Amino acid sequence: MRVKNIDQILSEIPKPRRHQKRKATKLRFFILAFVSLIGLMTLGWFNPEQVKALPPGQTAIATGSIWQQGSFPVENFQAYTSPYGYRRSPRGSGVEFHRGLDIAAPEGSYIRNWWTGQVVGLSDNTACGTSITIQSGEWKHIYCHMNGHVESGSNGTYLIDREGGIQIWKGQQVATGVRIGRVGMTGRTTGPHLHWGLKYSDQYIDPARVLREMYRQQTVSR
Ligand SMILES: [Zn+2]
Repeated sequence: MRVKNIDQILSEIPKPRRHQKRKATKLRFFILAFVSLIGLMTLGWFNPEQVKALPPGQTAIATGSIWQQGSFPVENFQAYTSPYGYRRSPRGSGVEFHRGLDIAAPEGSYIRNWWTGQVVGLSDNTACGTSITIQSGEWKHIYCHMNGHVESGSNGTYLIDREGGIQIWKGQQVATGVRIGRVGMTGRTTGPHLHWGLKYSDQYIDPARVLREMYRQQTVSR
């Protein structure tokens, strides 16, 4: 298989639908995204192994400025502690496929919605811990190991993190950049971090690719 360069890969990642911008928070996320790029470069993730792991069948879309609308998903960024892809299992000796990007931040740091969308899943009884899944067009973004838990009442199901002032209902619309929870230790985890998963058309992709393109476009837009 021919190895593609990163620009080709990024041009093949379809973009979520366009929605309103949140200019006020842009500078903050630019800074965070800059930090994220340093982290990505340090780890040198865009190697041929991961290129081969790209899901097939993604539609080619011309590069535009749309990615600059995305929000970096966590405040108080510390480090990328585990990339997307195959890794030695943190438990035992096997190899596993890590379906997301682990972003370490101090416990209690706020998690922000990457892209405007609808809350389609809430859970607190799997290895993912207390989690939210948000759908934005063909995209789904998944946030794991959050503080709080899920409750159900006559009005529906919601995630509650009282100390953090968070209450998110299943089915509700969430704007880009809104605080949707806090970094915690729920589920299977050895330290406080956000496990961030991204799916397009129900196939997992590497969130680092999206972050890198967000950084590139937010830099250009300034
Ligand atoms: Zn993870």
